[in-house]
Amino acid sequence: MTVLICGAGPTGLVSALVLAANGIDCRIIDKRSTSSTSSRALGLQARSMEVLSGLGIAEKVERVSYRLANATIMRRDSPLVRMAWVPPDSRYPNTYVLPQTGLEEILAARLSDFGIRIERGVELTAASTDDSQAVAMLADGRELRVDWLLGTDGARSRVRESAGIGFSQRVTGETYYLADATIDLGLDIGDSAMWLGRNGPLMLMRLPGDRNSWRIFVDVTDTARGSRLPELTLEKLVSLLAARGPRNARVESLEWSSIFRTRLGLADRYRADRVLIAGDAAHVFPPFGGQGMNLGIQDAVNLSWRLAAVTHGAPATLLDGFERERRPVAQLTIRDVEARRRMYALRNPVGRGVRDLLLRATGGNTRAARRASLQNSQLLTSYRNVIPGGDRGPRPRPGDRAPDGPFMGGALHEHLAPDHWTLLMFEPLAAQAVVETESGLHTVRIPPNADCGLKLRRKYGIGDAPEYVLVRPDGHIASRSSELGEVRSQYARMKWSSR
Ligand SMILES: Cc1cc2nc3c(=O)[nH]c(=O)nc-3n(C[C@H](O)[C@H](O)[C@H](O)COP(=O)(O)OP(=O)(O)OC[C@H]3O[C@@H](n4cnc5c(N)ncnc54)[C@H](O)[C@@H]3O)c2cc1C
Repeated sequence: MTVLICGAGPTGLVSALVLAANGIDCRIIDKRSTSSTSSRALGLQARSMEVLSGLGIAEKVERVSYRLANATIMRRDSPLVRMAWVPPDSRYPNTYVLPQTGLEEILAARLSDFGIRIERGVELTAASTDDSQAVAMLADGRELRVDWLLGTDGARSRVRESAGIGFSQRVTGETYYLADATIDLGLDIGDSAMWLGRNGPLMLMRLPGDRNSWRIFVDVTDTARGSRLPELTLEKLVSLLAARGPRNARVESLEWSSIFRTRLGLADRYRADRVLIAGDAAHVFPPFGGQGMNLGIQDAVNLSWRLAAVTHGAPATLLDGFERERRPVAQLTIRDVEARRRMYALRNPVGRGVRDLLLRATGGNTRAARRASLQNSQLLTSYRNVIPGGDRGPRPRPGDRAPDGPFMGGALHEHLAPDHWTLLMFEPLAAQAVVETESGLHTVRIPPNADCGLKLRRKYGIGDAPEYVLVRPDGHIASRSSELGEVRSQYARMKWSSR
């Protein structure tokens, strides 16, 4: 067997899908005997939706999610700041709210279209590796020898630990109750709101479906300090809301609750010989901004197209790009989330006053809001700093996400997917738009007069001369040149596709 994926969370499932779409033989195991019921991530960002679209899943997500349109910072029953959302330039310009369990079901169903089912109740107890194979030891005594082992087994990754990959982490000190409950708030807060009181934040986000279904995060660090925190009860939730949230909320039922403690962690490296780690196994941080699961999805795509190529004959050094590109993104995200955490956790009245002033000033500022929306959507993620040619020339550059735009009555992105490369040919003399699909490479000819070809030229920073842009399976630009031969020879060096 070629690839064993340990962990069927979002990262493992997306990895399996990309590998399967590229014709790679893989198995996916999970120690849980049933799918997860615990309530964790709630939002898919624009970039995740773009990637899921290439895997034939985004439409399903759209059907069962809702588009988060607003977020408000409240002071008791009145809005203090409305955080504007400036829709980024994407076919999926929002955060799509659905519980992580719902997404996992959709991913698993799509995986079964490829004939792959999650092997449940199968726990990995240890892993070892050398430069020729990886070995997974299972709790039932079996030993699986594979070409590659992917550790997508979450924050306490056994794969990471037994492969000897270091994980620098620290507890940041906050304790939260997390709950799903049915609540009549008695006021309209939109889909999401946050109260930043003297005991830290209380946040509410509407769940898809019933308008009174809410996800609650509430900072209970001050109560947890020095004593054992009891489980959340309905009565306790009523009193927390009354003291720190909307005055007249009526809690009808408490569906589920848990306690979590915030921590930050980043793996020292993402690969040990034939073991690779991705998602929470590689990085953890608090859930502010809804980035964690989305980062894991992008890790999965970046890693799996490379692994597919290597399995088909590309040099194993292609895998080095995974850590080189994705670890700095995790580092940056951790830095941003940590800044948010500190800001929300402020207890000192002077500090809180300054923070609220600052939030008021930036909340109404369209430029700041545009920047924040873009950043949250993960559309700004670029590998420009680490890939050849990314440091010069017109934008978008090698390493940047390939922009989308209208094309042939649809969208250009409809022609990108994790199972092939795409060559965009901007040719001023071409008479009509053409899409050709050959083994592993789709060629898209974009004449200036094709419907909206002009718009695409502008987005790709292209003038009157011909220009050729090679897009990788993960939707990032590999290279661009005015010489077709140059781009074609780069593809010849990189192709190694399944079909
Ligand atoms: C309270 C909370 C709220 C969050 N909210 C958001 C949000 O709004 N947006 C967002 O993007 N992210 C959010 N996150 C983060 C998000 O949940 C994670 O980033 C995401 O689950 C990571 O996915 P993963 O597949 O890497 O790992 P996981 O989802 O943890 O999946 C790991 C899988 O591996 C399995 N496994 C573990 N060990 C073994 C073993 N030894 N053998 C076999 N199987 C094993 C587990 O059973 C599990 O199914 C939140 C997290 C928390 C805790």
